[in-house]
Amino acid sequence: MYQQTVSIRDLPADRRHPEADGSEQFPGLEQMALRTRTKLRARDLIVQKYGGSSVADAAAIKRVARRIAETREAGHPLVVVVSAMGDTTDELLDLAVSLSPSPPAGELDALLTTGERISVTLLAIALAELGVPSRTFSGKKAGLITDGVHGKAHIVNVDPHRIRACLKREEVAIVAGFQGKGLKKREVTTLGRGGSDITAVALAAALGAGMCEIYTDVDGVYTADPRVVPRARKIDVISNEEMLELAASGSKVVHTRCLEYARRFGVPIHVRSSFSRAMGTLILPGQDQESDWDHKPIWERAPAVEQPVVSAVLRDASVAKLKVIGVADGVGKSAEIFGLLADESAEVDMAVQSTSSVRAGGSDISLAVPSRDGFRVRAALSAAQGAIGFLDLQYDGLIGRLSLIGLGMRTDAQVFSRLFKALSDAGAEIELISASDIRIDVVVRVAVLEDAQRAVQLAFGLDPAGNDQAGEEAVSAP
Ligand code: ADP
Ligand code: ASP
Ligand code: MG
Repeated sequence: MYQQTVSIRDLPADRRHPEADGSEQFPGLEQMALRTRTKLRARDLIVQKYGGSSVADAAAIKRVARRIAETREAGHPLVVVVSAMGDTTDELLDLAVSLSPSPPAGELDALLTTGERISVTLLAIALAELGVPSRTFSGKKAGLITDGVHGKAHIVNVDPHRIRACLKREEVAIVAGFQGKGLKKREVTTLGRGGSDITAVALAAALGAGMCEIYTDVDGVYTADPRVVPRARKIDVISNEEMLELAASGSKVVHTRCLEYARRFGVPIHVRSSFSRAMGTLILPGQDQESDWDHKPIWERAPAVEQPVVSAVLRDASVAKLKVIGVADGVGKSAEIFGLLADESAEVDMAVQSTSSVRAGGSDISLAVPSRDGFRVRAALSAAQGAIGFLDLQYDGLIGRLSLIGLGMRTDAQVFSRLFKALSDAGAEIELISASDIRIDVVVRVAVLEDAQRAVQLAFGLDPAGNDQAGEEAVSAP
């Protein structure tokens, strides 16, 4: 990462980021920078990503254009990544499915990427009206190379030389999110739903940006989805690792793969609303990453006593459980199973290996995967039963996962005794459990999932979702 040497506090006001004005009303980047001992220079590159709701109509696009103009006037080179307008991607998808229940994957990708391409050109038009020079880029032109898997491509390389040239000309680079060029066939591929976040962070990493700003329709990251849990608290600063835990538990405000990418390359992210000037949530790379950020994980900075041990209890009903029974003893058997899951591109949420109940010396492996992957994984494992050598395979689609998010949970024995008591009072039998310092996952029957969530929330002094005081913490609505 580049050297950050000058504090924005030292810069003349006219060269600061428009939101680094230090006013009490809009604390902005300066306070945040001071609090986290981060220094962002006015000439540092910023990557801004605007989600679908931020460019939903002409008025919204104008608002985005004004914001871009201000950031540029403050001296920041700027790369802007945009999503398709409003519900465009859903509408295109519906249209395709109305013509064929399973449209060819390549055609579908080509169709869906048009949504983002409309947004970039409209934004360029709005910027031209403000006298701001810009250049538009498809994912391919921006240099995003993917593994070529249609519908859920992964980025394998970024070659942003055209964007660098554009920035050198002092033009704003506007990039269509969610897409890239396949490595071998050079076909257009999409990164999966919500993938513009990944585009933004990949460009921020490749270009060494000082900040990746994700603009959306809520004013930051909350302890739970603020539209579902009215009493959810906004988080000012969170470590990337902790944010990953929140995202994996269903808080889909930033794409999980975007967070993983940011973590790997030490990219700081600022999640904020494009509808207000308020400071959002700063997601900082962890200490294990090479970065210039003098950052301690949130649980080390804050005395644990000030924090509630459990800050959120989330549930996810779209989980399937598989149990591979009687896996033969032998080195590499689990590797074979996980290799097969990787070939299926299945996301394994939890995996627990135990001594087999039916095969002496063997093991049983239980897995939780997202429901959408469940049948595919079952079919692949069944087909490989002979080759891998296990005795039986059980599948259960009627399960769900409860996730407790908090701080220092694994080391607090009280947490487990309270959790087990609450679950047993709710009649919820634990089928699988896994724990880290900041997250505990339990898999239970889907029929008892809601009761279990309520019981656990009450046990940890949290209000069950939407129970009372609705709207107490208002969200900046679009
Ligand atoms: P965009 O179109 O800008 O990419 P998304 O729909 O992907 O926006 O993400 C924003 C939405 O994420 C919010 O409207 C909110 O309902 C939802 N959300 C889910 N979990 C959280 C959370 N923990 N904090 C904030 N927002 C959340
Ligand atoms: N337009 C795409 C989607 O709706 C990508 C994105 O918004 O990030 O999934
Ligand atoms: Mg999104």
